[in-house]
Amino acid sequence: MARKGVSSDMDADVAVVGLGTMGAMAAWRLARSGADVIGFEQYGIAHDRGAAGGESRLFRMAYHEGPQYVPLLRRARTLWHELAELSGRPLLTTTGCLSIGPPAIAPMRNVLRSVREHGLEHTVLDGAELAERYPQHAARDGEIGVLDAQGGVLRPELAVLSAAEQARAHGARLLDRTTVTELLVEDGGVRVRTDSGEFTAGRVVVTAGPWTGQLLPELGRRITVRPIVLTWFAPGRGSTAADYAPDRFPAFIRDTGGVHLFGIPVMDGTWVKTGFADAWGDLPDPGSFTRDVDEDRLRPVAEAVAALLPGLHPDPVRHSVYVEGYTRDRTAMVGRVHERAVVLAGFSGHGFKMAPVFGQIAADLALDGGTGFDLAPMAPDRFAAAP
Ligand SMILES: Cc1cc2nc3c(=O)[nH]c(=O)nc-3n(C[C@H](O)[C@H](O)[C@H](O)COP(=O)(O)OP(=O)(O)OC[C@H]3O[C@@H](n4cnc5c(N)ncnc54)[C@H](O)[C@@H]3O)c2cc1C
Repeated sequence: MARKGVSSDMDADVAVVGLGTMGAMAAWRLARSGADVIGFEQYGIAHDRGAAGGESRLFRMAYHEGPQYVPLLRRARTLWHELAELSGRPLLTTTGCLSIGPPAIAPMRNVLRSVREHGLEHTVLDGAELAERYPQHAARDGEIGVLDAQGGVLRPELAVLSAAEQARAHGARLLDRTTVTELLVEDGGVRVRTDSGEFTAGRVVVTAGPWTGQLLPELGRRITVRPIVLTWFAPGRGSTAADYAPDRFPAFIRDTGGVHLFGIPVMDGTWVKTGFADAWGDLPDPGSFTRDVDEDRLRPVAEAVAALLPGLHPDPVRHSVYVEGYTRDRTAMVGRVHERAVVLAGFSGHGFKMAPVFGQIAADLALDGGTGFDLAPMAPDRFAAAP
C-alpha cells in the first residue's frame, strides 16, 4: 500500500508501545492502513490490570464533558460497528444512556448542548416523567433526565482483543509479555529497548496509559494515576433482573448532591454494575494499587446505591479496581511530541468510548503527520508552561 515502508532497514514502520485500549486500536488502524507494525504489551492481550478491565464501559453521545466531543464520538460509533462486524462480537449494545441531574449543573448543561447543537436523537424527561418511566431511580426534586438514544454499553476486554486480532490479520507483529524499558527517539529512527531485546522502527506511538510516566517522565509529571473501583449489585427483594434489563433500565450517569454514580444494566443475566467516580484518591504509580478495598471505603458506594437505586440490594456482591491516568483539565494528551513520536495518554476516566477514533488519529499522526480532527485542546505540551 502507498503508505507502507517508512524505512526498509528497520524492524517496522511503526512501533506501538502498550497494547491496551488505545494501543490495540492504534495497531489495528495502522496495520489496516498498510503500515508494517510492531507492538509491545507488558502483560497478555486484553489483560485485567490497566484501564480496560471490568466487563463494560458506557458509550454516550450526549456528552457531560462538552459538545466539542460529538464529532469524535460519531466517528467512534461508526468504527465500533465496523470492529464488531469484523470480529463477530457484540462490542457495542445500544441501550440508550440516561443522564440524570439538576439541569443547571455544568454536566447536564453540556448534555443538553450536545443533543441540541448536534441534532442527536434524545428525550428530555421532567422529574415526574423520569419517576414514572424509570422507577428504578429514586427521584429527587429538581432533577431531569435526558435519554441519549445512541448511548449504550461497550465490552472493553473483547474490544481490545478484537482490535489486536484485526491488527494481526493485517500483518502486525504484537509481542505480549514484553515490557518496554526504554525508548530512544532519534533523528534517524526509534529504538525500543525491551526485556527481550532491542527493536527499531521509523516512528513510535506511545499508548502506555497510566504507565506513561515510566517511559516519558516529563509528560508523566502531568498525569495523575488514580484507581477507579467498580461494584456489582444484585436486584433486591421484590425486584428481578428483568427490572434492570436494557429495555427497561438504560445505562446511566447521575450527578446528584455531589455524588457521581454511573451504571450499566444487567447484561449477563444477573448484576447491575455501578461505578463511583472521583472518590478514590491518587496513587504514586500504577503498580501500587491493591484490589483489597477497605470496607469503610466501599460504604459510601453502598449508601449511594441504597439512596439512589433502592431496588438493589445495597451491599456489592463484588468489587474490582482498575487504574487510569488523569490530567488536570480531564482532557487527554494526544499529539506528536517529536517528528517520530506520537503520544496518547491521560484519558481521565472517559476515553474508552472514543478508543477506535483515537486509534485512527494515532495512525494518521504517525503516518501522515496530521488529522482532520481538532486536537488543539489535547496538545501534550499545553501544561508545559504551568508550574
Ligand atoms: C474502572 C474504569 C471505568 C471506566 N469507565 C469508562 C466508561 O464507562 N466509558 C469510557 O468511555 N471510559 C471509561 N473509562 C476510561 C477508559 O477506560 C480509559 O480512558 C481507557 O481505557 C484508557 O486507555 P489507555 O490505552 O490509555 O490505557 P490502558 O488500557 O491501561 O493501556 C495501556 C497499556 O500499556 C501497557 N503498558 C504500559 N507500559 C508498558 C511498557 N513499558 N511496556 C509494554 N506495555 C506497557 C499496559 O499494560 C496497558 O495494557 C473507565 C476507566 C476505568 C479505569
